[in-house]
Amino acid sequence: MLSRFCSSLVIIANLPFCLAKFVLNSLRITEIFLSLQGESRSIGFPTVFVRLTGCPLRCNYCDSAYAFSGGELIEIDSILEMVSSHGVRHVCVTGGEPLAQKGCIGLLERLCDKNYEVSLETSGALDVSDVDSRVIKVMDLKTPSSGEEPKNRYANISQLGEKDQVKFVIANRLDYLWAKEVLQNQLKGVASEILFSPSFEEIEAHILADWIIEDKLAVRFQLQLHKLLWGDQPGR
Ligand code: SF4
Repeated sequence: MLSRFCSSLVIIANLPFCLAKFVLNSLRITEIFLSLQGESRSIGFPTVFVRLTGCPLRCNYCDSAYAFSGGELIEIDSILEMVSSHGVRHVCVTGGEPLAQKGCIGLLERLCDKNYEVSLETSGALDVSDVDSRVIKVMDLKTPSSGEEPKNRYANISQLGEKDQVKFVIANRLDYLWAKEVLQNQLKGVASEILFSPSFEEIEAHILADWIIEDKLAVRFQLQLHKLLWGDQPGR
């Protein structure tokens, strides 16, 4: 690992100065687009989505596998210009797993400095402690059916505040019971809002809704608005 890091530094050191500066101030981006926020507390607001390329996880229900690779290296200044061209207040940095790129922290800070209402969608597997405190963190906790449950980083929970949200994508009864247990243990006393969302096409939404009502859980049930409107289309 160290040798790979050192060889990256050697490669950057050997680049012409302007090219090295471009690489260090750039992020690999899959797409930047305007849509409606489909989930979380900002649901329904016109929002610019900045989708970063790459993710170290492989959730079974992933709907953005097209962001695992490819993308284009874009300087943070240019990303800010592209966001600004859409003329809306809400910006959502998503992926992939945005925090897998170190430059994401700087991008979030620059967006907050421009007074956008910035949210970050993150898998819950990577450390969120360096994320700017002005950012609304929407953090997944991966359920068993995702196949990535062992990657949950429960230490992140202590970094969450009132404006942040924890999201569970639920595909079956096992996921539901697991999420309920996490809610009653690891998330006990946490001020963040808890979101339970049915996994698209894996469970009928009303079944999850009925379980939540039956158990009177203090969670917010949510449907992914963008999928109701446009199905599973990328960039919507
Ligand atoms: S963390 Fe998100 S982008 Fe990564 S595999 Fe899971 S669902 Fe897909």
